[in-house]
Amino acid sequence: MEFTLVCTRINVLVLLLALSSPCTFIQSPMDFGQLNFLQTTTTASLDFGRIFFNSPSAVLRPQSPKEILQLLSFLSAPSFSKVTVAARGAGHSIHGQAQAVNGIVIEMDSLPPSIEIHRKRDGEPGFSYADASGGTLWVELLKESLTHGLAPRSWTDYLYLSIGGTLSNAGISGQTFKYGPQISNVLQLDVITGKGELVTCSPTESSGLFHAVLGGLGQFGIITSARILLQDAPQKVKWVRAFYEDFGIFTNDQELLISMTDIVDYVEGFVVLNEQSLHSSSIAFPSHLGFMPQLQSGTSHVYYCIEFAIHFYQEKDSNPDKLVKEITKQLNFMPSYIYSVEVSYFDFLNRVRMEEMSLRRRGLWDVTHPWMNMFVPKSGILQFRDLLLDNISPTTFEGPILIYPILRDKWNPNMSAVLPERGSEHGDKVLYIVGMLRSANPSTCTAECLESLLQQNRRIVETATSPRIGAKQYLSHYCQEQQWREHFGGKWERFLAGKSEYDPLSILAPGQGIFERKYSKWPTTLQSQ
Ligand code: FAD
Repeated sequence: MEFTLVCTRINVLVLLLALSSPCTFIQSPMDFGQLNFLQTTTTASLDFGRIFFNSPSAVLRPQSPKEILQLLSFLSAPSFSKVTVAARGAGHSIHGQAQAVNGIVIEMDSLPPSIEIHRKRDGEPGFSYADASGGTLWVELLKESLTHGLAPRSWTDYLYLSIGGTLSNAGISGQTFKYGPQISNVLQLDVITGKGELVTCSPTESSGLFHAVLGGLGQFGIITSARILLQDAPQKVKWVRAFYEDFGIFTNDQELLISMTDIVDYVEGFVVLNEQSLHSSSIAFPSHLGFMPQLQSGTSHVYYCIEFAIHFYQEKDSNPDKLVKEITKQLNFMPSYIYSVEVSYFDFLNRVRMEEMSLRRRGLWDVTHPWMNMFVPKSGILQFRDLLLDNISPTTFEGPILIYPILRDKWNPNMSAVLPERGSEHGDKVLYIVGMLRSANPSTCTAECLESLLQQNRRIVETATSPRIGAKQYLSHYCQEQQWREHFGGKWERFLAGKSEYDPLSILAPGQGIFERKYSKWPTTLQSQ
């Protein structure tokens, strides 16, 4: 049901509870204190995907974590209430994961901005780190930490995502092979559980909650603060792109690059399907790419581009050009199709923002995004490439397709994030990330066209996750418990146990579609709707 309710602070919630309760039973308004409910729910029913539009009944804009605590303490008491709660970071999900139909969305960006940088002194044990509130955007953390000469180690390609949002998934990019995903770079979290308890957790303190929350799809608690590991920030980055015709040579070279963990700092790669895909992924790369072999429209020749980067520091005596030469000597790209540029560290990390600006100018940012992201075992990457190309039309496809390898041993298996199990039994360390980041402009792609693209994605996911390929979805979207059970595989029982321990009434993150809210139909019995 889609509707917008005009809310007036506290009495609204009472009304909401009444509306969404199976009975006409109203809790006391005094229990909520002065929570900051917003008047409209428009942004909270939208996300980057623009595929799902589920209106909450109210939006909370907390001014402090205490307000979140108050709300969850109230809702976690067994009651007739069916109200669910979704934290919303930057709302850059694709499939409504931060939405709460008829529930309450908590807009995490309303928490007062708070980033505290702690630089480790020489000789002092431990690490440099930043304490940042859960709604902080990664770009804000980058800007602040750079003023101290520091920066987080692991990134996403796009920085206008919230810390709580990416830590609920994994947070991956070209640095993942070296430092692991963002969830592997967290020292401590403050979490408000679905039971309405504020817990500070770390690998040594309340470690069950710490591991559950990282990659936990928002199911166990709301991250109000995260302690993120920092390292010395480089001043400059040497950013290199090399083109390939042969997929096997492309992946071999990528795997060679990720084996050079001492000198290479970033490795990604993408498929060049057509001129538009080359152009759109090159907006931030300040060099003319004279790579136009057979990319005329109408042909379906596909190329691949590796991009890698090395950091360098003014104070250290490094010669990046020499280093790049030594590395590229070992690669087998198409002769002469190699390009390199030197950019500031900030511009390098913020490269997708330039693409965003360009797309915004052309009205192509706020469009529908039927994206699909997969982790693919190394043994299945060629089959997966074929599956992908068999299911899309290279000449008309809009958006980038990323393919790059990562290393399994940089992930902590105790965390909730899921990787393919296939390959691990043979000690296969390499896995691939594939992101099919498609845009569908509603002015040219009607509802029927969008449905056919989503259908295409479902077909690809179904085949890719079958035992033949053994892939797993990243930023998954499933509707049935059985599908989630298969997705989590050997981690499912632990995920279930964590849910009953930290959010027994299934109040949190309903947009993920994993659990149904539990409520009392009769005061003493808890049961599903
Ligand atoms: P939201 O969409 O707001 O929320 C996502 C989920 O997390 C929801 O279930 C929500 O309830 C929960 N949540 C949000 N905040 C909290 C919190 N504080 N505590 C607990 N739960 C919370 N991902 C990558 O890994 N690498 C990339 O390179 C990458 N690039 C992207 C580029 C673009 C342009 C976009 C749109 C997305 C990209 N993503 C990438 C995906 C992105 O990491 C996820 O969609 C992430 O969830 C977005 O963060 P958000 O703050 O927008 O989260």
